[in-house]
Amino acid sequence: MAFDIEMIKEVYAQTPIRIAAARKVVGKPLTLTEKILYAHLSEGAASQAFKRGTSYVDFQPDRVAMQDATAQMALLQFMQAGRSQVAVPSTVHCDHLIQAEIGADKDLSKAKDKNKEVYDFLASVSNKYGIGFWKPGAGIIHQVVLENYAFPGGMMIGTDSHTPNAGGLGMIAIGVGGADACDVMAGLPWELKFPKLIGVKLTGKLSGWTAAKDVILKVAGILTVKGGTGAIVEYFGEGARSLSATGKGTICNMGAEIGATTSIFGYDEKSAAYLSGTGRSDIAALANGIAEHLTGDPEVYAQPELYFDQVIEINLSELEPHVNGPFTPDLAWPISKFAAAVRENGWPAKLDVGLIGSCTNSSYEDISRAASLAQQAVDKKLVAKSEYTITPGSEQVRFTVARDGFLDTFDKMGGVVLANACGPCIGQWARHGAEKQEKNSIITSFNRNFAKRADGNPNTHAFVASPEIVTALAIAGDLTFNPLTDTLTNSEGNQVRLDEPRGLELPTKGFAVEDAGYQAPAADGSTVQVLVSPTSDRLQLLDSFAAWEGVDLKGLKLLIKAKGKCTTDHISMAGPWLKYRGHLDNISNNMLIGAVNAFNDSTNSVKNQLTGAYGEVPATQRAYKAAGIGSIVVGDENYGEGSSREHAAMEPRFLGVRAILVKSFARIHETNLKKQGMLALTFANPSDYDLIQENDVIDIVGLTSFAPGKPLEVVFHHADGTKDHVVANHTYNQGQIEWFKAGSALNLIKAKA
Ligand code: SF4
Repeated sequence: MAFDIEMIKEVYAQTPIRIAAARKVVGKPLTLTEKILYAHLSEGAASQAFKRGTSYVDFQPDRVAMQDATAQMALLQFMQAGRSQVAVPSTVHCDHLIQAEIGADKDLSKAKDKNKEVYDFLASVSNKYGIGFWKPGAGIIHQVVLENYAFPGGMMIGTDSHTPNAGGLGMIAIGVGGADACDVMAGLPWELKFPKLIGVKLTGKLSGWTAAKDVILKVAGILTVKGGTGAIVEYFGEGARSLSATGKGTICNMGAEIGATTSIFGYDEKSAAYLSGTGRSDIAALANGIAEHLTGDPEVYAQPELYFDQVIEINLSELEPHVNGPFTPDLAWPISKFAAAVRENGWPAKLDVGLIGSCTNSSYEDISRAASLAQQAVDKKLVAKSEYTITPGSEQVRFTVARDGFLDTFDKMGGVVLANACGPCIGQWARHGAEKQEKNSIITSFNRNFAKRADGNPNTHAFVASPEIVTALAIAGDLTFNPLTDTLTNSEGNQVRLDEPRGLELPTKGFAVEDAGYQAPAADGSTVQVLVSPTSDRLQLLDSFAAWEGVDLKGLKLLIKAKGKCTTDHISMAGPWLKYRGHLDNISNNMLIGAVNAFNDSTNSVKNQLTGAYGEVPATQRAYKAAGIGSIVVGDENYGEGSSREHAAMEPRFLGVRAILVKSFARIHETNLKKQGMLALTFANPSDYDLIQENDVIDIVGLTSFAPGKPLEVVFHHADGTKDHVVANHTYNQGQIEWFKAGSALNLIKAKA
């Protein structure tokens, strides 16, 4: 942790200076978001008034956090950078690969066995390169980060979409792909489109059944799953200051469901209390020293409509508990209207399972408030009608709530404690009978509820609510139960009512833990060996991609002319393939299998120009590779939209595709292609897409004078002997051209190292 406090001191020394510089160029009061962004401009990024939603800006994050599924490829790539240590403090968290089935201990031990080679790799690579390693069972990435690493005014990237959880403690924390994490660990800046800003003013104060979760459930209903796209959501006002730091974390965490880049709260007394409560009074003292820079300017909050692109106001005193769903997190129902919605829509009213916890909602406050309801169930002789599970977010929380008796209380109510891991939240749930695909309802305190996410059953109607509402509804076993107004019949036949939940933001006896599950890296990792079995089918060390051969690319075969939408999911499918995300050769067998071939309207069926036969895309490309022939992929508009998964760029590179030529790119994928040493080109005239024929052989001309702003020429040689010359634009700057020439960005970093 010493490394951290020194880093934070440095950030806090720079923050006032950089904000002062930003004030001069922006020329008006600053939001908190702008302050933190300007305080983290990379060395090369000039301080200027960036255009929201338009300017691409280089930043220098303070930290990197990775979960075990996405860390695999990020770290395999990082090993190519030629560094002895990561450039910024980084951690790995083993949380996504643990399947929930029986209960914490048995499930954990099974996962350790099943995923041993992945855990051994992650532990050894972390040990070697100075990365903190959180073992399986230690907890879920975002809860562990909040408890240990998040700090006000910091900037972090994480290889998981709910990284914004740390915004609850005043950090700009953004979910990214593994390639971005690799770059930052290798010491490169990180690019982000300067976000738009949405301000959410919170007035009043929560009470009774309403919880912090209801704020984001309400916001999701207002903004919908797309409303936050490209924006950072900044919460402020007296209501914001009244929320616990962990409650704020819940709100920021689920901000991912409205598509927001991230969400953030300013530093306040609740932040200081949480830092002190989690053993970080030193950071609270440092933050107090620059507190004015860790919140927005007063002028901004006095007239937010002048400084934010959109402003929403919510009165916490009037906010009702919400239940959102099914199948989408933005279908928001105040509890008073939910029962009617269940009946009108014919959703199964019988509640099969209630699940609390996860990275979103497993704070001491959440668990203690839910336990107060469980205790009432016991005291009032109510037998819980639904199954009920509890997923603690970290071992520290689990140990503390066990010490304080809450887990015993859940046990009396029939609850099952699952491992400190993602489990059902990410589909790692061996739910018995799910394969029958029966229509049923579950309710969780998680964040996502898309079809099949929890148990793979498309007919599971999953609803999202606060842990308090989940617990009350699990006791009732009925989705139409409103705990604010309705009574339940107990085992003695009496009508009883549940009282409002009660809990504590922080444990009065402090947090405790025997073994938090942390493994510090070696001070000098030079002799540490990274463990990867050469026979593994889940992990494979990477080889450097070959440098450009110094001549124009001629005689390329057309691999596929993709038609219509071609997202990163079409290029590199998820689902069962995720097992191979650490093994580039194996996962490349999913390359472009979801893309529609414009010549036959089929997926995963392209003509092999060497044999004339139709075959699967990966197999066809492997045939070209074996014959030493390069190829080209042609695509439509917005090629590569979707997740920032780097496999979508690495797979074609690995299998020998030399260029992707499209009508337009999704920016992140275009950058990922450049990083891997690929040519990412766009038709200067989009209708030239129509000129490409199935048996074309293609030349790319002009590479020997490849320069920023200078288009390249592409020649299509058709089977009938005719040809078309078309102009291809590109967005490579000089540095990115050097990546292409070196074979990849990592090759260049390695050469410099
Ligand atoms: S608990 Fe759920 S939302 Fe949180 S990191 Fe795990 S899978 Fe993602």
